[in-house]
Amino acid sequence: MPDPAVQIAGTQEIAPDLLVIPNDRAQLVPNIGVIGGTRAVLVVETGIGTANAEQVLALASEVAKGRRLYLTTTHFHPEHAFGAQAFAGHATYLVNRAQADDLTAKGPGYLEMFRGFGGPVARRLDGVRVPTPDVVYDGGYDLDLGGRTVRLRPTGRGHTKGDQAVEVPDAGVLFTGDLAETGQFAIFPWFPPYDTDVSGVRWLAVMDRLVATGPRVVVPGHGDPGGPHVLAGVRDYLRELRDETWRRRDSAMGEDEIVAEVRALLIERHPEWAGQEWIEPGVGCLCTEHAA
Ligand SMILES: [Zn+2]
Repeated sequence: MPDPAVQIAGTQEIAPDLLVIPNDRAQLVPNIGVIGGTRAVLVVETGIGTANAEQVLALASEVAKGRRLYLTTTHFHPEHAFGAQAFAGHATYLVNRAQADDLTAKGPGYLEMFRGFGGPVARRLDGVRVPTPDVVYDGGYDLDLGGRTVRLRPTGRGHTKGDQAVEVPDAGVLFTGDLAETGQFAIFPWFPPYDTDVSGVRWLAVMDRLVATGPRVVVPGHGDPGGPHVLAGVRDYLRELRDETWRRRDSAMGEDEIVAEVRALLIERHPEWAGQEWIEPGVGCLCTEHAA
């Protein structure tokens, strides 16, 4: 696996005082946000490991010029959150309750799993501890950065149990975390019996609600930012995955055959997308689910 290095040099200003460090389609590198108000700056995601996070912190500190720093993460997965310790003493790290619960319950297992990838990923996780948020909120949280309020909104279970969307209403920008990806198949962290929190059915319901919020710019967890079509695209894919899976399951086809057929079909329909390995866990997940 290639080294999951955050590339600060690619940083783009997508709206006034709103930067994105693009993942540039690199595996295990998320899109990272730096959102400024008159009094404070919010960083969204850390990158995997402390060395990446230190670079993000350095950029944010330079941009902040003395403004107070906050950090949040969209969900507990290591490439999004497992650099948070580098922000300790520099920024206030706040997350939604369900994400904090995920960090506690699943963080240690994911740290072990990702270290098991070996090579550069394991090296990035040297000395990394499971993150501990400074502030855990219930419900939603409106973070006032001064002249700009950012809406932190738990979405309910989708890609994980604790997903959080980060909305910047004045700029029409929405950070979705891994609820949305572009240029690749949706990531289903379906690892029975260890982790079965992802839900295709609930994820679809979340996408319907996010589409209705009508953002101008969508920053996905991985892949290029884009317009509202990013959300509709993921929703349409999830529907396609669900319908093709259920149609076969309901005709009593066995799971191996369902996986093979749906995989072949979806690759044929989306030949340019990366992450073909995520189709199988998506089918596996949906095979266990029923209409809400
Ligand atoms: Zn994720």
